[in-house]
Amino acid sequence: MGDRPQARLAVISMHTSPTAALGQSANGGMNVYVHQLCNAWSRCGVATDIFTRRLGVDDPSVEQIAPLSRVIYLPAGPFETDKYGLASYADGFADSIATFIRADGREPDLIYSHYWLSGLAGLHLRTNLNLPWAHTSHTLALVKNRQLAPGAQPEPEVRIRAEERIAREADLQIVSTSAEGSDLVEIYGAEAERIAVVAPGVDLATFGPMDRAEARLKIGYEGTRILLFVGRLERLKGVEIILRALALLADRHPDVRLLVLGEDSRDALEGEKERLRAIAEGLGIAPRVDFLGPVAHHELPYFYSAAEACLMPSYSESFGLVGLEAQACGCPVIASNVAGLASVVRDDVTGYLVSGADPADYAHRIRRLLDSPQQSELMGRRGILLAQRFDWNHTADRAWRALTPLLEEAAVDQFLGES
Ligand code: UDP
Repeated sequence: MGDRPQARLAVISMHTSPTAALGQSANGGMNVYVHQLCNAWSRCGVATDIFTRRLGVDDPSVEQIAPLSRVIYLPAGPFETDKYGLASYADGFADSIATFIRADGREPDLIYSHYWLSGLAGLHLRTNLNLPWAHTSHTLALVKNRQLAPGAQPEPEVRIRAEERIAREADLQIVSTSAEGSDLVEIYGAEAERIAVVAPGVDLATFGPMDRAEARLKIGYEGTRILLFVGRLERLKGVEIILRALALLADRHPDVRLLVLGEDSRDALEGEKERLRAIAEGLGIAPRVDFLGPVAHHELPYFYSAAEACLMPSYSESFGLVGLEAQACGCPVIASNVAGLASVVRDDVTGYLVSGADPADYAHRIRRLLDSPQQSELMGRRGILLAQRFDWNHTADRAWRALTPLLEEAAVDQFLGES
């Protein structure tokens, strides 16, 4: 590999930056995904310029996050604009990206957008710069609406229309599971040949097992049996189900504590944390539930290693990085049996997959793990093995192979155009 990168990609992550603090607002799996992928690409000579929206006056204009990866902060609408309001700024954001690229002089070879808002920007930028364009949805409105949590707001038409356009027009869509690919074909009318399935990864250098007693000591819960939830707090994540399951376990396991890591999501209609606190009070389990707020990514291995189980009762999930991180640390995962989580957790092997949203079904699985430490340990060990298959370097490699034909085609078109 010489000094010149083998390619440069313009990555669009409009509404949220890969450098944002995780587990709150809109910041979760997608931020980790973009950050880790671009990191891994940097290691193998692929340069990325990640374009995100300025969120405050203190944001830098350019930030280097890896030798060949930088984040470029550009304005798009007033700082406080909500996600849906941002749609009307997507074209303007794309124009700002084009202006930046022209001034910078480092032309990208391909555009790669993330989430529907960036997809709208990608669509506009592709036309403007005449470049191949790939997209990853991360979640799909029609899929979310199909499995809506009680009390959750359905995703609006503006997002559905945008996703339909993106599905029809992107040169390639990179999805996390084959189920997501089928959804794109069956409900969004995408062409199957323009879909590549690439599983996300886990940072195995950060997420690995450690001694449970030591981990508990480190996080301040020495000698306590712990159940864990990690994620943005919004209805979709189903934390209420865990509270109700814990209440069902109260007689037999009064010693178990639930730690809830994460903060209200910007998608939460009302304060989800306050709603959950009130439910815990009502169930009489409030003293056994600790809402710890967001925890730095690199601190999470202590929590996963300390826990008896990580709980993910999401109503829908296109992947579920938390499940992978927990397993990499040897923590069994009890998750809802939705496509994304079923691609991460092996039922009865590394944890349990639960169909439906009945707290009693979750309580039953939790009890099995609490009553049988040997079974729990065995599942944990299998989880560690399974997680080794999901390395971000593999993800980057597979994604790169999926993008290569687009780059080759564009190079041929350019050559023919010039000759
Ligand atoms: N996360 C974190 N600190 C927190 C809560 C979450 O670092 O307090 C990270 C977590 O480790 C994971 C990501 O946020 O990498 C959430 O990803 P996931 O795919 O589970 O959920 P999503 O946010 O995509 O719905």
